Amino acid sequence: MSGVSRLQYTTEMRLVRVMCSGRVDPAFVFRAFLNGMDGVFVGGCLLNECKYVTHGNYHALNMVSLCKRLLEHIGVSPERLRIAFMSSSDGAFVAEVTNEFVKKVRELGPLGEGEGLDKEELYSRLKEVARLIPYIKMAKKEKLAVRLANPEEYGQFYTRDEIDALMREVPSYYIDPEKCQACMTCARRCPAEAIISAKNQIHVIDQEKCIKCGTCLEACPPRFAAVKKIVGEPVPPPIPEEKRTIVRKRKEEEISPSEEALVEG
Ligand code: SF4
Ligand code: SF4
Repeated sequence: MSGVSRLQYTTEMRLVRVMCSGRVDPAFVFRAFLNGMDGVFVGGCLLNECKYVTHGNYHALNMVSLCKRLLEHIGVSPERLRIAFMSSSDGAFVAEVTNEFVKKVRELGPLGEGEGLDKEELYSRLKEVARLIPYIKMAKKEKLAVRLANPEEYGQFYTRDEIDALMREVPSYYIDPEKCQACMTCARRCPAEAIISAKNQIHVIDQEKCIKCGTCLEACPPRFAAVKKIVGEPVPPPIPEEKRTIVRKRKEEEISPSEEALVEG
């Protein structure tokens, strides 16, 4: 309506349309910052006027509250992220709120510069959070599903200490070379293709690619239990490539026919 009503509003925004503000994932927010945006504005329909039963705008509000804390955690001003709810018929409000946001971002300055972070440091911090989004969403899945009666309460819904602890306790996953039977189950299920896998080769997790989703821990058959979750300790170095081959001697090794079938895939 802003355009139709010939209202002046900022040209410094790039619009990305989604079906519902609830579709905006934390990953989108961090990707926008990684792509050089100085601010991210999420516009949703008016609260309690969602035409779907899902009330996606509440999900968006919850998600933004979490992302603001994550930004704070890495030293980026949370004011670079804003959410507002509006009716499509209220063009004047859309123009006002977007102009005001752009003005605020201009005051904050270019991303990183306003915070006193050099480009490389900023990029590595943003990248690390972006990589950990699946872990963060899983760790906070119960809270992310909460719909508070009073929208004002979302501002304090996640605390600084809570997010600092969450990021401190990021787990690592490690495959015990003594236990891995190269059944390949974990590699097939890993959503990040982070497991170096080959037939009859002890599997190894590429820690740089791992998104800490924990799928491999659940997927590894309990009788092998080769995947370990490590918190607060360094991950042992990967077994050298030349030592990864598993030599199977069926008679000596205690491997049942059913296990062998699993191993053979
Ligand atoms: S935790 Fe396991 S399944 Fe998840 S990304 Fe890392 S290696 Fe892959
Ligand atoms: S699922 Fe377990 S036993 Fe099978 S390859 Fe992965 S770590 Fe090894």
